[in-house]
Order: sequence, then structure tokens, then C-alpha cells
Amino acid sequence: MRYLVTGGAGFIGSHLTDHLLAQGHEVVALDDLSTGTLDNLAGATGDSRFQLRTGSVCDAAAVRAAMRGVDGVFHLAAAVGVFTILERALDSLRTNLHGTETVLEAAREAGTPVLVASTSEVYGKNTALGLTEGADRIIGSPLTLRWSYAEAKALDETLAYLYHRELGVPTVVVRPFNTVGPRQTGRYGMVLPRFVDQALSGQPLTVFGTGEQVRCFCHVADVVPALVSLLGDAGCHGQVYNLGSSEQTTIGQLAKRVLAATGSASEIVTVPYTDAYPDGYEDMQRRVPDCGLAEQRVGFAARHGLDEIIESVIADRRARVTT
Ligand code: UDP
Repeated sequence: MRYLVTGGAGFIGSHLTDHLLAQGHEVVALDDLSTGTLDNLAGATGDSRFQLRTGSVCDAAAVRAAMRGVDGVFHLAAAVGVFTILERALDSLRTNLHGTETVLEAAREAGTPVLVASTSEVYGKNTALGLTEGADRIIGSPLTLRWSYAEAKALDETLAYLYHRELGVPTVVVRPFNTVGPRQTGRYGMVLPRFVDQALSGQPLTVFGTGEQVRCFCHVADVVPALVSLLGDAGCHGQVYNLGSSEQTTIGQLAKRVLAATGSASEIVTVPYTDAYPDGYEDMQRRVPDCGLAEQRVGFAARHGLDEIIESVIADRRARVTT
């Protein structure tokens, strides 16, 4: 099979690209290299079954050209990271709205199935223990810019659903919950690589807010095969699936675990949100998924525990420091 991975040079996209190539498929990656890097594609580059096209998902001609002859599309390209969303809010909104519409429209023309990557952020401030796909969204003001990411992704979901329902395009939506692992950078705000980099360089670990906020971190290696299964299963089209771990940690505990695992003598400092982020930030106090649907349908399982995840990120960040 031949697949298009938009955002193929990004964190999840590059792991998906490697996985598809390892399964014997051909991959076209479309990436504007805004947050993705060629470094992430070091394993794929040089493989005759791999092709990188540098371009934007908002460019209809580029998307159409990249989609030619493909059997399926993984649409992962997006503006990501809380820092990106707050600092480049308009660009981010445009990419996340128009990019998805452009990809869906090209897929309709080509008759190609599409997986659209949404986000657990769509649940907003719903702190239910075990968020199911039908759970209510609790979102702040549209002018509190943090929510613009969730708003764009929620509209992407509705678009994907309607392209399926009204236009017959096979689409499926996934909502990843705090996917982490090697290659993720802390530059755009993601907490785990930030803590690991801080610990390895002897800098204080910056816990934002109280540190009591809860997240569940899932290894990218658990997420990637599920993406392939969900797109390949016609029974999943027109549906949405959570993908994540149910192992909870507070961010304060995460900082302590990173210190223990690295053996770092760094201290932990708490930073008020107002100092940590530009205007427009609001946090979510707890985000815990129920992934029963993906488990039942495609055997999804979060196999990597948090300690193993932390170790894999430490190994990756250490290798970058020393090379
Ligand atoms: N966070 C933190 N220190 C950092 C970066 C993030 O305490 O250096 C917090 C952030 O405020 C949030 C949690 O860690 O409560 C997870 O943040 P991230 O941006 O990784 O993911 P998300 O908020 O989308 O779950």
C-alpha cells in the first residue's frame, strides 16, 4: 500500500512513517517543516519507498499532488504545542482549520480514506475520570486563545464526520491523550521533554501552576499501530476514538519521577501560569481517557508504563545532547 502522512516529519508522523515502511508500505510525507524536522526522518530518508514533499496542507495543489496514487491518508499535520498556539494563534487556527478542509476535499476528489488526528483537548475542562468519546466538551471563552486549538480540532472532527456521512468519504477521527516518546521536543511546551532536558542540564524543573493537575502519558509506539488499524477498518469510518493511557500522574509527581530517573540534582520550582505562558492560557485540571472503544475495535493497549516512557525520553534526549 502507499500512504500519505501529512506532518510526516513531526513527532508522531515520523514514527508512523517508520512503522509503515517497516510493514513494507510506501510513504509520501507532506510537511512544511515548521515544527517537524528532517532529523526525525533520518531512518526513512534514503529508503526508495519513501518520499518527502515539502509543502503546506493549506496548499490545495500540493495536497492533491501528494495524494496522487495513495491508498490512504493520515492527516497529522497541525500547529501543535501550547506555546505555538498562544504565540502564533492566527496562523495556528488557519492551519488547523483550512489544512484539514483542504485534505478532506482532496481525499473526496481522489476517493481516498483519511484518518484525521484530533486531540483530547476537545474535552476542555471536563475532568471526568475516564472520558468517553461522547462526553461533553467544557470549553472556555473563544477569546481565551488556548481553546482555539480545541475549537479548530472540534470543527475538523465535524468536517471529517460530515465528509463521511454526506459525501461518502471514508474518514475516521482519533483523539490522542498526551502522546510522548523519543523525538518529541519541549520547544513548543510539551512537559515531559522539557522536564527531562531541564534535569539533564541541571536547570530547575518548572512545574506550572500547583503541580496538582493530572495527565496520562502514552508512548507513541502504542499509538502508531492503532492509527493504521483504525484507518484500515471500514467499520471504524465515521467514528471517533480516544487513544491514550489510563495511568494518571500529577505534573508535580512527574517532575519528581524525572529527577529520580535521571539522578539529577536539579530543584523543582513552581511557576505561576501568568509567568509561564503568554496571555490566553487556561489549564485543565485532569484529563483521563476511557479507551474502551479502540481496545474493543482494534485491540489498542497502552503497553508502556510511565517509568518506561520516562526512560525512553531520557535515553533520546541524552543521545541528542552528546551527538
Ligand atoms: N507544564 C509544566 N511545566 C512545563 C510545561 C508544561 O508544569 O515546563 C504543565 C502544563 O501547564 C500542563 C501540563 O504540564 O498542566 C501538560 O502540559 P503539556 O503542554 O505537555 O500538555 P497539555 O496541557 O496539552 O496536556
